[in-house]
Amino acid sequence: MSAATRPPRRSGKYSALGLLRKGLRGSDWPRAWRSHDLRSSYDVVIIGGGIHGLATAYYLAANHGIRNVAVLDKGYLGGGGSGRNTAILRSNYLTPEGVRFYDRSLELYQHLAAELNYNVMFSRRGHLTLAHNDSSLRTMAWRAEVNKLQGVDSSVIGPDEVKGLVPYLDTSATTRYPILGALYHPPGGIIRHDAVVWGYARGADSLGVQLHQKTEVTGIDVSGGRVTGVRTSRGTISTGTVVNCTAGWSTLISDMAGVRTPVRTSPLQAAVTEPVKPFLDAVVVSGTLHVYVSQTDRGELVFGASVDPFTSYSMRGSLDFVEGLAGHVLELMPALSKMRLLRQWAGLCDMTPDYSPIMGHTPVEGFLLDVGWGTYGFKAGPVSGETMAETIAEGRPAELIRAFGLDRFERGALVGEKGAAAVGH
Ligand SMILES: Cc1cc2nc3c(=O)[nH]c(=O)nc-3n(C[C@H](O)[C@H](O)[C@H](O)COP(=O)(O)OP(=O)(O)OC[C@H]3O[C@@H](n4cnc5c(N)ncnc54)[C@H](O)[C@@H]3O)c2cc1C
Repeated sequence: MSAATRPPRRSGKYSALGLLRKGLRGSDWPRAWRSHDLRSSYDVVIIGGGIHGLATAYYLAANHGIRNVAVLDKGYLGGGGSGRNTAILRSNYLTPEGVRFYDRSLELYQHLAAELNYNVMFSRRGHLTLAHNDSSLRTMAWRAEVNKLQGVDSSVIGPDEVKGLVPYLDTSATTRYPILGALYHPPGGIIRHDAVVWGYARGADSLGVQLHQKTEVTGIDVSGGRVTGVRTSRGTISTGTVVNCTAGWSTLISDMAGVRTPVRTSPLQAAVTEPVKPFLDAVVVSGTLHVYVSQTDRGELVFGASVDPFTSYSMRGSLDFVEGLAGHVLELMPALSKMRLLRQWAGLCDMTPDYSPIMGHTPVEGFLLDVGWGTYGFKAGPVSGETMAETIAEGRPAELIRAFGLDRFERGALVGEKGAAAVGH
């Protein structure tokens, strides 16, 4: 190789050794966010340092100039569902309220890297929900029509088109659950979930929000029907506004404020394989087989399913789950039989009766909810943060979340998303 074509020698700054040195020394890596002593008072206290709490804090500061805000987490940022999910993004829901809401989130996701100046690795892949029987096909057609009416790209396609998009799928008519068609949603995709959490945390911190890890909320003070403060493992804070963003733990926090919610907590498991060369472009979901799969940029296959059939706060994986998962995956893609699973895990999901979230004000003045995110709340992080921030700043529910108020369960005005959210995530 001549001197002219030889790549330039890498300086110590970028060599592997240089990176290792930096990693061990840690001296000139800028901190993404700071640590603080707890103040005695904040304008807004957000409980839960997952994507919802962090995005709410970020948009409070960025869009409304409300910066005297604390985010409290009993563990570490992203240690809940936000760091355990399978990071599938889409907006092809079943109700007009749901489609509009999730579509705004997808729009925010598309520009999130630029907004936060942080690479969140958003990857538009196309999302396929397979239909294995006539009733599923009918629901797909229904969803496609609702989606189109809201301007969302979504249509029902036949088995040949499905095969064209995902050649490894077994689309023969002789399988136990033949693929009759699919709901195809080109804008769907995946993202790097940790990066989203870190990006919002860094953005909120840079705008003056205080992030407090290892700070457990142990009580909420209510006087005369309104919130006055929060008790924590590090001391008491006085505040007039508390937002519950604790997902799987949300009923424990709501109970502290005396607010009852129709939420039950169930574990949801997922698993990941060893990395292989990219062969799967789309996200593939089968509601009938209770399984979905996508391939990360690193090449791992990420598998998910529906929630465990019991309520629990346990976050342990089970053999029963991987056995069922493997069987169903192989019915869809027999060619994967030689792949090895690397690990499995679980997170907690706060399930509501209608598979839609609970957002906004409660009968206790100053106590707001952003909960009920079940198995599908990661994709909703940006729009939830944006609308919760607006709701707090304006004192009334933002337009996009009006349908998701707690009072809908008393009024019987449910927003039924089970047909689009039970396995699809
Ligand atoms: C396996 C799995 C796969 C999933 N896949 C998808 C998917 O593909 N797409 C999708 O959109 N969604 C998915 N989800 C759902 C999604 O992960 C959640 O809905 C979302 O992350 C909820 O975010 P959050 O910020 O509300 O809550 P979390 O990220 O769970 O954060 C809540 C935080 O509250 C903190 N906390 C709890 N109690 C207290 C307390 N007393 N004091 C202080 N802090 C407290 C916890 O430590 C935690 O960090 C999946 C979930 C799981 C488990």
